[in-house]
Amino acid sequence: MHIPSLIEKKRDGGHLEGGEIAELIAAYSSGEVPDYQMSALAMAVFFCGMSDAETAALTASMRDSGRVFRWPEGSPPKVDKHSTGGIGDKVSLVLAPLLACDNLWVPMVSGRGLGITGGTLDKLESIPGFNVHLDESACLRQIERIGVFMAGQTADFCPADKRLYALRDVTATVPSRPLIIASIMSKKLAESLDRLVLDVKFGSGAFMKTREDAELLAAGLASAGRSNGVRTSFLLSPMDEPLGRAVGNALEVREAVETLQGNGPDDLVAITLDLAAAVSNSPRAVLAKHLQDGSAWRKFLELVEAQGGDARAFENWDHFHPSALVRPFPSPDEGTIVKMDAGWLGGAAVRLGAGRQKIGDDINSAVGFSGIRKTGERIAKGEPLLWIHAASAADADAAARSVRFEVR
Ligand code: URA
Repeated sequence: MHIPSLIEKKRDGGHLEGGEIAELIAAYSSGEVPDYQMSALAMAVFFCGMSDAETAALTASMRDSGRVFRWPEGSPPKVDKHSTGGIGDKVSLVLAPLLACDNLWVPMVSGRGLGITGGTLDKLESIPGFNVHLDESACLRQIERIGVFMAGQTADFCPADKRLYALRDVTATVPSRPLIIASIMSKKLAESLDRLVLDVKFGSGAFMKTREDAELLAAGLASAGRSNGVRTSFLLSPMDEPLGRAVGNALEVREAVETLQGNGPDDLVAITLDLAAAVSNSPRAVLAKHLQDGSAWRKFLELVEAQGGDARAFENWDHFHPSALVRPFPSPDEGTIVKMDAGWLGGAAVRLGAGRQKIGDDINSAVGFSGIRKTGERIAKGEPLLWIHAASAADADAAARSVRFEVR
């Protein structure tokens, strides 16, 4: 295979054959194709796009670059959800144990925070002792025992995606629809699912800024799932304000725990049930009952214990996550909150230390925002619009300077 000719073909708007893509990804995975050629190709794809057939071939080749899960014959349906990422999005923490209460297997391979959006693994790691590094046999043992695991990508799980994603991150080629579709769906297909639901977000706190772009991405993701035999559905959800009232790893875990105990904020409960109902055996009302009667909470505790987490920490959460400073941000006016900016809040949370500004940065689990008021709510002058949890007064001042709510 002559790589410069492949790059040239794509650069000039040509169509790559399935065989060419498979060979290219295999050669990239084995190190035969260097990063500089792959980044040139990624840029050619960024500008010229890919057809559905090319995208499907890229997805399958990336899935096959590593091991895929093989489930025992006759095991329950395997289901999962993927969110394209948002601010305050702690749905996975609630949804995975909830679905496992419904006689389903939930093999959830999750990611870390990306840009201004939070990541499930970072949230889980705010639970003392929680181990997200499970190998394939540990995943299998756990799912057979309790119906769910939540773990990170291992070295032999879609390695081509791992390498290509890191490359895209530093070559300005992340926001390419076919590359996003192949990246997300190769990992979901490697879970060997029966059913998948996608939460494709749009708005100031999402990857996709407009509903139209989110629709196109959702259709592409669903088509890649269906053409590979997975029953795939999607939901488009706005991300102009954060989900729930907490942003930041430990603060979000606390809100997820409240939701699992039947006391979650309305928007978080609603979207979790909508997504869960799309892949479950039971209707929404039965799933809602699992949240209300403590079944989902007990399953979450089983999950935490199975992965080495200390469930006693939930009894005294603030003790495990002391933030140096918790400060209210008062509303400058009385009125109705008409606008807020999830993108701003996500960026501010990262600057407080809840996310990474560069690869390898440590994150601070305790920092972020709590008690966030939502659009449409009435507020009195001086009442907190949110609470800032910061490591220092200087960080809290910086966050407060960039708060953007509109109250009329
Ligand atoms: N998430 C992924 O896993 N890959 C992308 O390309 C974008 C978001």
